[in-house]
Amino acid sequence: MADYYQKEIETMSRKELAELQFERLKWQVNRCYQNSPFYREKWQKAGFEPRYLRTLADIRNIPVVTKNELRDEQAQHPPFGRFTMAPQNLWRELHPSSGTTGNPVNTIWAEQDVANITDVTARMMWGFGVRPGDIVQNGFSYGLWVAGMSSHYAAKKLGCFVIPIGAQMTNKQIQYFKNPGSHVLLCTPSFALHIAEKMAEEGLSPDQIPLRIGAFGGEGGTQNASTRSRLESGLGIDAYDFYGLAEIGPTFAAECTAKAGLHWAEDHYLIEIINPETMEPCAEGEIGVLVITHLTREATPMVRYWTNDLAKLITEPCACGRTHARSPGGILGRADDLVVYKGAKFYPSQVEKVIRSFDCLSDQYRIELTHDEERGVDICTVVVERTKEILEEDFVPKLKKALKEELMVTPEVSIQPYGYIERTAFKAKRLYDLRKK
Ligand SMILES: [Zn+2]
Repeated sequence: MADYYQKEIETMSRKELAELQFERLKWQVNRCYQNSPFYREKWQKAGFEPRYLRTLADIRNIPVVTKNELRDEQAQHPPFGRFTMAPQNLWRELHPSSGTTGNPVNTIWAEQDVANITDVTARMMWGFGVRPGDIVQNGFSYGLWVAGMSSHYAAKKLGCFVIPIGAQMTNKQIQYFKNPGSHVLLCTPSFALHIAEKMAEEGLSPDQIPLRIGAFGGEGGTQNASTRSRLESGLGIDAYDFYGLAEIGPTFAAECTAKAGLHWAEDHYLIEIINPETMEPCAEGEIGVLVITHLTREATPMVRYWTNDLAKLITEPCACGRTHARSPGGILGRADDLVVYKGAKFYPSQVEKVIRSFDCLSDQYRIELTHDEERGVDICTVVVERTKEILEEDFVPKLKKALKEELMVTPEVSIQPYGYIERTAFKAKRLYDLRKK
């Protein structure tokens, strides 16, 4: 078997890739302008017309689209809004975003969209080592959430045997590791850590099961060195980061076996990193907001979708030989999860990195922001769980020092017994803003 799933696409030169992207971008922008009153009106207001698109870089003249705009559009033109295209007889699946805040945004996959999503997901899975005949335990949530279906279709396409268990039943997950003996686990990193904890409690060693690969999405964190090493030693696997989001699509970026950052499928998705203050493109390697354009999506195309996810992008060739750009570190946080405390700015992912470097702490944590009425100041407390007895007088200063080195500010620390923080199979909530607004 070849090392690549689609060698010509995955290893094409950056120049050829840019030409392909530009052709596809022109196609998408033209059809949106002609067929979608949502885009046409938005662009006219911003003074943009498709004929102004002379090079790929001209994309920066197109205004970005936010989730709130999509929500408003769908409320005014229910249920799908005027950015929905493709003839209805070609629609195949409805996938609303998970909607943790406000109404979900309805996205539709047309026939060709399902084919492309399956293809890209299969490419990513091949990239992190899934092969025909592997038993794939799909612990991504099925149903309306996007990643369950896409990875199911892709695993079948690769010739794998799929266990469609979904994000539930920790005991059954462990049972399937033993019998029939899954080779690949797909789920969120927090659920995987929870399964690993339970496995250790049961006394099942990773050497006793054939599990070989884990790919983790729905939340970032897999690329944190300490998190990756906990996942790998706890489950006896190689752990890879896997990314997608409802409005854009599931499982369309993943690490290859070089573990050198998320590879984007740039033939289908145009990736930009934008400085949220200047709205200008960030330099290579600089952190900004991920803005994504669908180059091939037919039903609900997004042109410059503002994901609110923070990442950086590099285009230098990867050790694997693939030429598509990468995001080392993966998703580095949400632009609105930024904690501003005593003038310092940090993201929950930085706290996670520190916590997971201490063996005497569990993988779970939360960050609480409260307001001290008497003193009139905000307080930031990092709540963690101990996994063994620790002498707090010794340990708390050590933890505070490590946090200060990473965050440039010293939060309060609260050490709780193991099991204090609620476990979740879906996205773990880390930041709790308890200040009265
Ligand atoms: Zn690579």
